[in-house]
Formats: sequence, structure tokens, C-alpha cells
Amino acid sequence: MHILIVEDEKQLGKLLKRVLTEERHVVDVADEGYEGLNLALSDSYDLVILDRMLPNMDGLEICRQMRQSKIKSVVLMLTARGSVEDRVSGLTSGADDYLVKPFAMSELLARVQALLRRRDRETEGNNILQVGNLTLDLVRHEVQREGKLIELTAKEFALLEYLMRHPGQVLTRSQITDQVWRYDLDAISNVVDIYIHYLRDKIDHGFARPLLKTVRGIGYKLEAS
Ligand code: CA
Repeated sequence: MHILIVEDEKQLGKLLKRVLTEERHVVDVADEGYEGLNLALSDSYDLVILDRMLPNMDGLEICRQMRQSKIKSVVLMLTARGSVEDRVSGLTSGADDYLVKPFAMSELLARVQALLRRRDRETEGNNILQVGNLTLDLVRHEVQREGKLIELTAKEFALLEYLMRHPGQVLTRSQITDQVWRYDLDAISNVVDIYIHYLRDKIDHGFARPLLKTVRGIGYKLEAS
């Protein structure tokens, strides 16, 4: 994901950038309001982490202007103050969530994850992903191909969901491991290949055109041609 951090405390900005980069996000940092607003208005960010008190233009104003310009990036507001009024004004300016300083990095990461996940669900509209004649229903947790219901385990479903969110894109084994087996430290090294094999058996076996393709030496992709 592409993340913008607008934070004038340079040490904190650097730390956030490092932590989020380790999570494989692509991160830009601005340390004052005007630059932050300009970057945010480029509309190239999935998430904007916005400090409330900033030189030149504060976080509330940046957030308001983003929403006026119909920028849909998710906004997580950071603040040193945590009164109810502050929280309310942050949210009414169009922020999606609010985190009071000082916070633990683990809490920030959990919020970021939750916000991005929520956004993924919302942008899905009807909650159905489709590649060719394969559909995945996020709400019913159902997978069908040519109208036939396909039974998947939870891991197979998560793997397929990830592939279907990036149709036609080659995903490396390490990207897949990171996304699907994130916190599962027992994941064995060839776990991706094993699950791809299971999944292929279920979604492609018996159908004329395979959707799940191996890109030799790189990884896998799902596409409908
Ligand atoms: Ca500040």
C-alpha cells in the first residue's frame, strides 16, 4: 500500500516510515502542512497518517480540504490531545480514525491494518470479486466457477482472495507469504507452492481454461485469458 505520513516531529516521522516500510508499504513523509496537503491532493495514497498539530496548516484543515477535493484516501489522525471534543472534531473533519500520542507501534500497525481492510471491503461494492468465470463472495464466503460451488479451506480462501484482488499481476512467493501467512510463524518455506497446488486442483481442475498460472522463477498470477 502507498502511505503518506504528515508529521513535523522528525524522529517520529522517521520511525513511522521505518516501521511501515518493514511492513512492505511504500511510504512518503512530509514534515509540514502545505507539503502534506499537496501530496495528499495528488490522490496517490491508500492511507494518510496525519498529525493534528503541524506548521503552516493543521491536520484538521488538510483533512477537510482532502474531503472537499473528493480524495478518498483513508485518514488516520494523530494527536497529542485526547479530549472528547478533539476526537469529535477530528472525525467530523473527515478522518476515519484517531490515535492519541504517545502510542505503541503495535497499536498503530493494528489500526492501519484494520483501516486498510475496511477500505478494501468498502471499495468492493457488492463484495464479489470476479476473474473470468470465477467469483468469490466476501460476505457469504463462497467461491463459484461456472455456477458450481467450490469448497475451500480458510487458508485456500485467503490465498484466492489475495490473488483475485490483484488479477493479472504476478505475485511473488514472499508477497503471498507476507499477505496470507503474516503472523503464522510456523509457515514452512514451500507452503505457498503447496497451497497453490491445492487451489489449482479445486478451481482449475476439470475446466477448459486454467486461471491460475505459474510464472517460472517469480511466482504466480490469476488471470482470465
Ligand atoms: Ca505535531
